[in-house]
Amino acid sequence: MADFKLDVDADGIALITWDMPERSMNVITLEAIEELSGIVDKVTNDAAIKGAVITSGKEAFCGGADLTMLERMGAIYAERMKKEGEIAAAKFIYEESSKLSQLYRRIEKGGVEIGGKEKKVGKPWVCAINGTAMGGGFELALACHHRVAADNPKTRLGLPEIKIGLFPGAGGTQRVARMMQPADALQFLLKGDQLKTDRAKAMKLIDNVVPQADLIQTAKDWIKAGGKAEAPWDVKGFRLPGGPVYSKAGMMTFPAANAIYRRETYDNYPAARAILQVVYEGLQLPMDVALRVESRWFAKILRTPEAAAMIRTLFVNMQDLNKGARRPVNEPPTSIKKIGVVGAGFMGAGIAQVSAAAGLQVVLIDRDQEAADKGKAALHKSLSDRVMKGRMKGAERDTLLEKITPSADYATLKDCDLIIEAVFEDRKVKSDVIAKIGAVISDTAIFASNTSTLPITSLAAEFKDPKRFIGVHFFSPVAIMMLTEVILGKETGDRALAVALDYIRAIKKTPIVVNDSRGFYANRCVLNYIKEGHLMLLEGIPPAMIENTARMAGMPVGPLSLNDETALDLGLKIVRATEADLGPEAVEPGMKILLESMVEKQGRLGRKNGKGFYDYPPGLPKKLWPGLSDLLPKKLAREEIEALDVEELKQRFLVTQAVEAARTFEEKVVTDVREADVGSILGFGFAPFSGGTLSYIDMMGTKKFVDLCRAFEKKYGARFAPPKLLIEMAEKGESFYGRFAPEKKKAA
Ligand code: NAD
Repeated sequence: MADFKLDVDADGIALITWDMPERSMNVITLEAIEELSGIVDKVTNDAAIKGAVITSGKEAFCGGADLTMLERMGAIYAERMKKEGEIAAAKFIYEESSKLSQLYRRIEKGGVEIGGKEKKVGKPWVCAINGTAMGGGFELALACHHRVAADNPKTRLGLPEIKIGLFPGAGGTQRVARMMQPADALQFLLKGDQLKTDRAKAMKLIDNVVPQADLIQTAKDWIKAGGKAEAPWDVKGFRLPGGPVYSKAGMMTFPAANAIYRRETYDNYPAARAILQVVYEGLQLPMDVALRVESRWFAKILRTPEAAAMIRTLFVNMQDLNKGARRPVNEPPTSIKKIGVVGAGFMGAGIAQVSAAAGLQVVLIDRDQEAADKGKAALHKSLSDRVMKGRMKGAERDTLLEKITPSADYATLKDCDLIIEAVFEDRKVKSDVIAKIGAVISDTAIFASNTSTLPITSLAAEFKDPKRFIGVHFFSPVAIMMLTEVILGKETGDRALAVALDYIRAIKKTPIVVNDSRGFYANRCVLNYIKEGHLMLLEGIPPAMIENTARMAGMPVGPLSLNDETALDLGLKIVRATEADLGPEAVEPGMKILLESMVEKQGRLGRKNGKGFYDYPPGLPKKLWPGLSDLLPKKLAREEIEALDVEELKQRFLVTQAVEAARTFEEKVVTDVREADVGSILGFGFAPFSGGTLSYIDMMGTKKFVDLCRAFEKKYGARFAPPKLLIEMAEKGESFYGRFAPEKKKAA
């Protein structure tokens, strides 16, 4: 079926409309590449056609490459590797993956060979960007001779490939680096920023922004006015915006970029390193050769385990979860219009904000009207800060806030479709609130608790209809964190799950669904991470080394910083509650003593009171607290510190979380490998290059992972003991994605 429609108008201008049948968004597939290639031939060879405008028939222009196509290529690569060897397989990947780049280059040359003796004139191409253009879609725009965008506020333009372990491989790195200063280009490529049209124009990535109604005509007018089929870099005498690589300016850029890259990534991301390399090498070469260099690096990066793991977790799996992979199939779609949030504190206000932003009406309840108003006022303040910074329009803030009604009257909850409680983490307070809500809630509404530690089943027992009770656990800060953990109590019904998942979809977050257990999934893993940091402190390892090695391992923040953010008194509360419920052997005595000294003797609660493992002097960067060493039982000597194995410290941080994830899987707290992986990256930033906790184990190989656990168990204690499931998998040579492949699970 045709993906593109071609209409030639009376002026000889071809309008190419990209509109893939049976898809909500245009994506680049092998078929689309072939069809567009035929269209380039037609535009080039038909003398009646003067030039071409390419646009889309959908709301967005193009979402980028069809990543399942890249996954398929990976599978063919693996097969060829077995049959024909590494070189033939690598050649296949290079040839296939460079097809798109070559097609775009043909467009850029107006369909003709340039630079030969015979002077040929190509056909100009204009991209009429009607909506969002990402990745390969935006690279197509960059290859055109002129770019006009409609002033659609929803449009985002960018090259976000880095976020899934890849980089723009269809000319993106080379064109962007020839359009702006190399430092800006590197930043744009390495961050994977998604720009609004005005910002893209300011950065000279697009030429013009016009009203939607004028889009096509403006694009055509550019051709009629004599727009030429040549890219600036193909014109003799072209100068790079930042000057040559080997110049004073170049020398100020590239070595510094290298240092920033290492500081930000600790060399964990092959794709980020490749971006630096291709920009540096490419800018010293003519465009055709530079594009070949880019293609070779792209083919290499596509074959890395990091790219495979990141594509699987952060694209394929995440999309499955967002589209409702865990939604009960027999539950009809629900329509949520009004929600109630009880508890207008830090979390409750955040939940109200994201719900109102999704267009829902929100009743925000607290102990009295004053407390409820305070919650809304806090939101007004934080949104006004965004308005001040130009990140939000004043009118958007007002529309959002209008949807939130603060109240102390529980009767206002009676027509809510979903009520979420986010009151103090105190069983008595929760019981009281559950009873009050129970008295007014409608017969069809669902009750959700945002508790982080109390078992959902036990809270549900206090509600009149436990089938309608579910855990919806948000992460802080609610507006920023993309994950929501849904917890099923023993009696939670399918409709409660369907409503919770439909709500999470409406507020555009990613859900994972887990069974009830102490700490659920995410907090169990992340508490192990923080604990490992504490235990290293007790071993006498310097705090700065602990924080740095954790970041080197790929964690976004060190364990001591993280503990400061989540509050040390909360940490102590959890240790004490664990001891009370599970006995003294369930907690590390040294850790308890350390937290008691910090919180109760020193009054250091974390960032919230400006004093934790770090000091937080107002207006200055935080600094590790120098008094900490006096509280520690042991301090290593200089030679002992120098003899520490940094690789081992890094592994301890990741292994302690991954082995806990394996335990949650064995205990059936988590039942889907996709959820363990996605949840670990979105919920607590587990080394994204690994693809998540279980992918980390798969990437290392189960046997090797179990051996490492055993070695750490011997050296550091039982917390590293591998669970039975892992031992069995190691013996059988199984991996998580091999044994628990989601397809198989569906069929079961
Ligand atoms: P918070 O102290 O900021 O807010 C609690 C709010 O509940 C306060 O506004 C308080 O006035 C209100 N409240 C107390 N008793 C009430 C009652 N009887 N009726 C109505 N309102 C009452 O606390 P928070 O950090 O927002 O945490 C709320 C819940 O969210 C807890 O269950 C907590 O475990 C959970 N949670 C917190 C985080 C986090 O990082 N803070 C993350 C995930 C989940």
